[in-house]
Amino acid sequence: MKWYSQNASTILQQLDTSRIAGLDEAEAKRRLEQHGLNELTAKETEPAWKMLLKSFKEPLIVILLIATGLALASAAYDFFVSGDQAHAMASVYEAVAIVLIVLINSGITFHQTRTAQKSLDALADMRQHHMKVLRGSNWLSIPADHLVPGDIVSVKSGDFIEGDLRWLKASELQINESHLTGESDAIDKSVEPIDEETELGDRTNMGYSGSMVVNGNGIGVVVATGMDTELGKISGLMQDIDDQKTPIEKSVYSLSQKLMIIAGIIIVITIGYDLVKQLIQVGSISMDSFGGISATAIAIAVASIPDAMPVVLSIVLTIGAKMMASQKGLVKSLSSVETLGSTTYIASDKTGTLTKNEMAVTRFLANGQIYNVEGNGYTPIGDFIRADGGDTHSADYQRFLEVAVLNNEAEIKPDDKQNWRPFGNPTDVSLVVLAAKQGIKRDELLEDKGDRDIDIVRIFPFDSTRKMMTVVIKENGRYFSLTKGAPDVIKPLTELALIDGQKVDIQNASATIEESMLEFANDALRTISIAQREITKEAALNASSSELEQHLSFLGLVGIIDPPREEVRQSVKKLTDASVNVVMITGDHAMTAKAIAKQLGIIQSKDADVITGRDLEEMSDAQLSKRVLDTRVYARVTPEHKQRIIKQLQAHEQVVAMTGDGINDAPALKAADIGIAMGINGTEVTKDAADLILLDDQFTTIEKSVESGRTIFANILNFMRHELTTNVAEVLSLLLGVFLITSSIGQVTEVTPTLTALMVLWVNMVSDSLPSFALGYDEAESDVMKQRPRDAKQSILANGMLKRVLLRGGVMGGMVFAAFVWAAMQGYSVAQSQTLAFLTLVFGQLWHVYDARSVKTLFDRNPFSNSRLTLAVGFAATSSILVTLMPFFNNVMGTAPLSMPMYVGIIIISAIPTFAISGIKKLVGMKSQTDSSQLTQLDSE
Ligand code: ADP
Ligand code: MG
Repeated sequence: MKWYSQNASTILQQLDTSRIAGLDEAEAKRRLEQHGLNELTAKETEPAWKMLLKSFKEPLIVILLIATGLALASAAYDFFVSGDQAHAMASVYEAVAIVLIVLINSGITFHQTRTAQKSLDALADMRQHHMKVLRGSNWLSIPADHLVPGDIVSVKSGDFIEGDLRWLKASELQINESHLTGESDAIDKSVEPIDEETELGDRTNMGYSGSMVVNGNGIGVVVATGMDTELGKISGLMQDIDDQKTPIEKSVYSLSQKLMIIAGIIIVITIGYDLVKQLIQVGSISMDSFGGISATAIAIAVASIPDAMPVVLSIVLTIGAKMMASQKGLVKSLSSVETLGSTTYIASDKTGTLTKNEMAVTRFLANGQIYNVEGNGYTPIGDFIRADGGDTHSADYQRFLEVAVLNNEAEIKPDDKQNWRPFGNPTDVSLVVLAAKQGIKRDELLEDKGDRDIDIVRIFPFDSTRKMMTVVIKENGRYFSLTKGAPDVIKPLTELALIDGQKVDIQNASATIEESMLEFANDALRTISIAQREITKEAALNASSSELEQHLSFLGLVGIIDPPREEVRQSVKKLTDASVNVVMITGDHAMTAKAIAKQLGIIQSKDADVITGRDLEEMSDAQLSKRVLDTRVYARVTPEHKQRIIKQLQAHEQVVAMTGDGINDAPALKAADIGIAMGINGTEVTKDAADLILLDDQFTTIEKSVESGRTIFANILNFMRHELTTNVAEVLSLLLGVFLITSSIGQVTEVTPTLTALMVLWVNMVSDSLPSFALGYDEAESDVMKQRPRDAKQSILANGMLKRVLLRGGVMGGMVFAAFVWAAMQGYSVAQSQTLAFLTLVFGQLWHVYDARSVKTLFDRNPFSNSRLTLAVGFAATSSILVTLMPFFNNVMGTAPLSMPMYVGIIIISAIPTFAISGIKKLVGMKSQTDSSQLTQLDSE
């Protein structure tokens, strides 16, 4: 169907829809069923069995399968060759048990991964694009995938087009279709039918899915959705990208690989050492001792592979993303969670993010007089009082107020309770309220009244690069161009000023204007100049905005208050304590910006350095580079400047988060390490380019997200500390057994491993894995926001991590080995000696988990603050004791029951290493603290 060659009414008829009412809900629902969701190739969700199978590819699982195979082979040998039935059954049990433990672990992992995936999907749904659609005579915002052919949609600058459309109305509408045509300039759109033979790029009355509205607004009817759109036709070319691994995932992955290589070397050396020893002592290798050696080798393999790390890692990151979303910060990818934690600069827009965006004009200058405006909020009641105490003359401001509302698209309306509500651009709303206080209203001016006839001819909306808005009107047959905008931008374009109805040279007025402007700005007011110009009909119809915005006559100047948000001050303080630099970026005047920055604590005094857009234009990159680290306020900048600021900060190795809400901000959001978009007032384009979406548009949410990012990273380090310590302890206790026990002790022969492979497996996959997951849910340690941001490039083993792991793992491994030897010397059986070692390890770890969860020591956190952890530890402790008591597990794991006093003894003794190390550290820490506080005391004396 060649929609572009038909006229609008034919199309509406064809699609059986109405320009006035749109489709009704029932019909829309029917069409949705018929055409399917408006999306490109339905995303395939991975079936559960595939996800389960995936977990079997891990190297550890492969080793375990080999172990199972070996156990079964040894069982077969015993059955058919040696005839040792009992031994054979033991091997079979062992094989079964390995499989069981692997299944339990896969079950836990699978469940966690599934839950994580579900929350990620839920987050993705929250990020859905929306579209304004006419349904049953009402304009609604619906998720873009619910769009159906025949829907009437309305778009404005900053929106995405979500289906193929035929335009019905286009005002100053410009669209970027580069994704389809490669043409990067925006295309002007219109509504007239065009020739059938027209190429896609020239079909000016069509809008195509995936395009961006860069200017103006329009209404269109949807002619195709989903795979039927032009984008759908080529979408085979752009299949979605694989899930990217986050930096920490990558480094943990490479760490695991290194550990695996080390494990491999250790195993080879161990087996080699044992075999050579055998050969030298006995002259041959018996099947039995070979079995013993391979049992030890398997135990070491199991002990040394940090199998849980990658899985736990992605799950902890997901938990983090979910936690952020519940605090109104929606991240796009898991790596943003991590990056947020290492953010060093947050560059935020002022208006609406740092301020309330509830604007009100409090002062203005017109006809050479300054007036103070009374009244509250949006209620259009309030007197104008002349600042010099003289009589007010409405003639002073009549024309100025008319222009202020005519060059304006905002409105105020009373709600049911007679409270006035704002609609539209907040700056413009403040002007509407101002004029309404004198009974001047746009609607009434535009009404035909016979004596005075005013019509709007064209609108050039405000844009933050031009910093002006212009409207062309026809008034009683004459044409005027009305311009309002930033005073310093308007000033050079102005030639005359209107004083007492007379046009005077601007020279005579400019001193007063300049003085008033600085005075307003110094009081933290946002300033706007209002001007007009009479033009020809020809210019009215055809001139561009830059042709119209010159030779202006000045009418007046307003000062608008935009109160800072109260909570922001607190957030700025918290971030500053956390060594995160808060930077304000605004299109407002430098004075206004400084005044507000000071109120928010971003700068300490009004003497602080401010860089303006003009300064930026004149500065070289090298000059900017020198000042960029210390500058906290950028004023009168355009969105394009943001990219330069980001680039220079990044050149200093800073991690930069940057907010943006308008369409021109999208490139800066992409360039930033964390692009931040506003969920409520932001454009779809910025939401798409962002890494973090503030669902409540609040600056405080950024601060909370940074805190979450840090917490999550800390949790990751905590569980890695824990996992690695376990691994070191296990490997060490086994190796000590191989190398130090050179002859039989009591009933224990020298080839007996300190721990059976299944014991190690139990520790890694059951008793240790639940507490590890639980660490991911920990809340922030009290001082995460008192530290410096983490250096993103630093290795995870840096900052004493390696030392800490080796020390604690080493002591723990030594204890486990000592427990084993002690039991053997007391004459306990092999199984009992191994059980003693096993429980020393389990409880040693369960105590240690409380140490691992603090960057400092065990004593620095309330041990019961994480209820999941308490549960996990309780479960691990109970189940680990149970497996030493139940005959089934005695059989398969090689455990044996111990006496009551022994259990109690183990629980107490296994606490010693953790308490001792933590205790020493705490004491040393306290001492160095008193030392340093003494130093500061000396300093202040
Ligand atoms: P910010 O978003 O940082 O507040 P803007 O780009 O919105 O900066 O505004 C920059 C300047 O442009 C303001 O200080 C004001 O002088 C002018 N301005 C803002 N909004 C409008 C508007 N709707 N019409 C005309 N001028 C405006
Ligand atoms: Mg703005």
